[in-house]
This record gives sequence, structure tokens and C-alpha cells, in this order.
Amino acid sequence: MAMLRFNPTDVVQLLQDMVRVDTVTPTASGRADAELPLAEALLELARTWGLSAEFREVPGAAPNVLITHEVSPGAPWLLFDSHLDTVGVEGMTIDPFAADVHDGRLYGRGVCDTKGTGAAMLWALREVREARTATQNIALLLSVCEEHSQLGVRHFLTHDLPGLAWRPAAVIVGEPTSMQVVAANNGFVKWKIRTTGVAVHSSTPHLGRNAVSDMARVIVALEDEYIARIERAHPLTGGGSCSINRISGGTQVNVVPAHCVIDVNRRLAPGESAEIELAQVEAILQTLRERDQLLCVQQGEADAVVPLAADVNLPFGERCAATLSMAGIPSQVTGAPYTTNGNHFGAAGLVTVVLGPGDIAQAHTKAEWLEVAELTRGVAGYRTLMEHGPSQPAPLSAANQAR
Ligand SMILES: [Zn+2]
Repeated sequence: MAMLRFNPTDVVQLLQDMVRVDTVTPTASGRADAELPLAEALLELARTWGLSAEFREVPGAAPNVLITHEVSPGAPWLLFDSHLDTVGVEGMTIDPFAADVHDGRLYGRGVCDTKGTGAAMLWALREVREARTATQNIALLLSVCEEHSQLGVRHFLTHDLPGLAWRPAAVIVGEPTSMQVVAANNGFVKWKIRTTGVAVHSSTPHLGRNAVSDMARVIVALEDEYIARIERAHPLTGGGSCSINRISGGTQVNVVPAHCVIDVNRRLAPGESAEIELAQVEAILQTLRERDQLLCVQQGEADAVVPLAADVNLPFGERCAATLSMAGIPSQVTGAPYTTNGNHFGAAGLVTVVLGPGDIAQAHTKAEWLEVAELTRGVAGYRTLMEHGPSQPAPLSAANQAR
């Protein structure tokens, strides 16, 4: 297949070009390199615009694209990130890849989450390169596999970043935040809990041990003694939470089941840690085991993403919000309960905020849309951040006025 080529004359066309390429995330589409055609087209487009652009390989996936615009070797680097993949299109009530515009809204899968932020970042970068108005070095990472595992950014941080000649002074992750500066996000830990019984014919259940019935007791204990006691009080993210979201067990209607497993998802507020939460759950399970010596219940291996903590990101977030407000985009520093690529940048020790056009309420929906006016506001917002150097302290008085 011939390589896709983009030649957009404005940011709306760029976003339409991007949405028309199906980049449903590999785990949902079954295509390991789902983002590749889009990555190739954007790499070429960036080069056409005079920007440096290269692939950064991600084993088993499409490559990330790293686009850079260096204005001065001594200047700080501001890194932008936006993911190229989208969630699936099942159940959508619009053509997910038509990218039609009606009544000032652009419709399509990924238009809001988060090709809109990527298009706006790339367009802003094109503008500041042409106008020669960037006051710092700018990098744009177009990353892969965010919607499932954040593999693209995880790999970039562990394998690419240490070898680069520069380290970002700060990172702006593009997700739909209605141009509010999100400086704190929840993380999560997800894991399985298994009960193991003894399978027997259901005509003699007393000879076996029912793993499903055991799991029922485990669930009640977790709901009452763990989940109900989680404090939901974080001022920026709303606090942590936990839910048991999947269960499976048993083989046939006439066999007492030997296995049952649940999937637990604990959202971690800044300040909470996966280790402490897993230990609390373990203590509850241990109490159950002591009450019933024959109960066999085990926690499986956990997969955790640490929260994005506000404190280290607040000063940069305040400067971003002040810069945006001065450019006529009212913006405040806030937090959000979801998890993004930003959590990984934060975990790598980088100052990070999440910021982008569009409303998170539109993400992953069956008729996903983004207002065209919001898209152009995104370009203006990113551009002003590239031009007014929020990685250096902003004038305090102006910042205070803007708040
Ligand atoms: Zn997203």
C-alpha cells in the first residue's frame, strides 16, 4: 500500500486527516502496528514543515514519533505528548472515520481523545517554527498504545529518554481537559484474587469445596471492610476508589466449581500507594483464612501506575494557567480522577501537567465530537505556551492578576 500523505491547509483538515486513519489501539483492533500509517504520515508532514522528526521504535508495536524544534542549545526543553491510538468503535452511532463537520463540531473516533490535542500541538509547532517565536526548545512525542498499556510512553521513558541529549524541563500531556491545567491525577493498581476449591459432582457437594461460594464471602468482606472505608477526599482528584469489576468461575451446572477469580481495580489518589493498599487487602483475606482454615484465597500479581502528584507540578501548572489566561484562554490548575500518559512522565521524575482542548465527557463516546472552535483554542493555547516559556518563571504580578 502506498504511504499515506497529508497536505492540510488548516488544523481542522489536519485533524480530519488524522481521524480518517483507523488507529484503534492494538489490543482492541488486533493490529500490533495499528498506529503505523498515521505515524508515517505525520513524520513526513513534520519534515515537510521543516521540523526534525524521527521514529522511536517500540518493540512489538508501531513506533512513537519524536518531533523536535530546537531554537537554542542552551534553552530548556518543553516536551508535549499526545497519543495516536484510540479506543474501539463498537456501538458508535456515527461513521467513526468520516470526520464530518456539522454545526461547528467535528465528529469521529479519537477526535477528542486525543487526536484533537495532537493536531493542535503539531499545528502550533508549525506556526511557531514559521514565525520563529518559540522561546524554548520544543519536542512533540506522538505516542502509541496509550489506551491499553501506555506501552509507547513507558518504552520512551525507559529506553529513549536516558539516551537523549536533552531532558525536558517540563511535560505537557495532551488529553481533553477543556484547556484547564490538570496537575494531579489518580493512579491505579489492578490485580486478580483467586479462590481455589475442590471440584466434585453436584449431587455430592459436601465432598467438595465451592470456590464460587468462597469468593462470595471474599467479595462481601472486601466491600464491607475495605471498599466502604476508602476516603474520597483528595482536593484535586476527588480521592481514591475501588471496585470489583469482573468475576468468572465454574465450568458446568452440575459440577461444584474449583476455581473463581475476580478483577479488582483500585484507583489511587496522590499520596496513596499500591503496596499499602494491597497489604490492607491481604490483612482482610488473612482474617478470613484464620476464621476458616480450609479457605484458599490468593492475590495475584498487581499492575500499578502511580498517581500524578500535585505538589511538584503546581508551580509549573500555575505558570501555564497564567500564560493561558493572559492569552485570553481562562484556565485554572485542577486535578482529575483518571490516569493518562502523564502519570508515567511524573513517575519518571518529570514535572508534568495534562492540558488539551475538548471535554473528557466526550472521550470514548458513541458519537465522539470536538468543537472546531475548541480545536483552534487548543492551537492558540499550545502556541502561547511554546512562545511564552512557562518552563521559566512567569512575571509574578501578571500571574497573580490572571488568577
Ligand atoms: Zn486519551
